[in-house]
Amino acid sequence: MARIIDGKLVSQAVKDGVKEQVSLLNSKGVSVTLAVIIVGDDPASRIYVNNKKKACEATGIISREYALPADTSLEELLALIEKLNNDSEVNGILCQLPLPEGLDEKAVITAISPEKDVDAFNAVNTGHIMIGDYTFLPCTPAGITEMLDYYDIPVRGKHCVVIGRSNIVGKPMAMLLLKRDGTVTICHSKTENLADITRQADILVAAVGRAKFVSADMVKEGAVVIDVGMNRDADGKLCGDVDFEAVEKKASFITPVPGGVGPMTIATLMKNTVIAAKLQNGLL
Ligand code: NAP
Repeated sequence: MARIIDGKLVSQAVKDGVKEQVSLLNSKGVSVTLAVIIVGDDPASRIYVNNKKKACEATGIISREYALPADTSLEELLALIEKLNNDSEVNGILCQLPLPEGLDEKAVITAISPEKDVDAFNAVNTGHIMIGDYTFLPCTPAGITEMLDYYDIPVRGKHCVVIGRSNIVGKPMAMLLLKRDGTVTICHSKTENLADITRQADILVAAVGRAKFVSADMVKEGAVVIDVGMNRDADGKLCGDVDFEAVEKKASFITPVPGGVGPMTIATLMKNTVIAAKLQNGLL
C-alpha cells in the first residue's frame, strides 16, 4: 500500500516559510502585492482565484482582484496589464486561464512583464527554465519537486516518465526532473505503446486531464505516482488522472486528488510573489 504524499501538509510548510519572508520584508518597509485578473465567469476559474486570494491572506501578501466581464476586448485586457506592469506597488501579476474564447492567451502571457510573471508562463521565464537558470519557478512542477524533497524521494538516476507536454505542466516538469539528474521520458497523445513506457517509470507524473486515465497495469510495482489531473468523474466528483484506489495498492508513494498537487501549485505561486518583491526591491 502506497504512502500518501500529503500536499496540504507540505504546502502549509511552504506557506509558513512565505509568511516569515513576507513579515521580514514588511519589517523593512516592503509590502508584497499580487494582482489577479479574472475574465468572465467560469466557475472553476472563480474557485482557483478565490483559493489564491485565501493563500495571499494566509501569508500576508496583499491581493488585488481585477474581475473583468467575459466580453472584455484584448486591447482592454492588455491595457490593464500594461498599467499593472507600470504600477510599482504591484509585484506579481497573474491572469487566470483559460480566457474566454476569442482572447489570445499567448498575447496576454507575453504582455506580462517577465519580472512580474509569477506563474512563469512568459517565454522569457520558460526559456530560463529550459536552461536551468531561473528566478521564477514553474508553479505546478516546482510544487511537485518540493513534495518529492519533503518525502526524501530521490530523482537522480531514476527513470521519470511525464505524461503530458503542455507548456505549463508537462514540459517544465520534465525540465525540473532533468535538472535533478532524472532520466526523463515525455509522453503525449501520439505516444505509441504508452503503458510499456509508463511501466518503466520509477517516478510517474500524470498531467493528462482525463479522469482515472492511469490504471494499475500502467504502473510499476513500487513506483512514485504524482497525479496532476483535476477532473470530474461521472458523478461530478473531483478526481485526478490516476485510478487512485487501484494504483495505491501498487505504488510506493502517491498523491491524492484533492489534497495533492493542487495546494502545492498555489504555495509556489506565493513563493514566486515574494521572489518578485525581492527582485524589484534589489533584495535578491
Ligand atoms: P493540456 O494542456 O490539455 O495537456 C494535456 C496533455 O496530455 C497533452 O500534452 C496531451 O497530448 C496529453 N494527452 C492527452 N490525451 C492523452 C493520451 N490519451 N495519452 C497520452 N497523453 C495524452 O493540460 P494541462 O494544462 O497540462 O493540464 C493537465 C491536467 O492537469 C488537467 O486536468 C488540469 O486541470 C490539471 N492541472 C492541475 C494543476 C494543479 O495545480 N493541480 C495545474 C495545472 C493543470 P498532446 O500534446 O499530444 O495533445
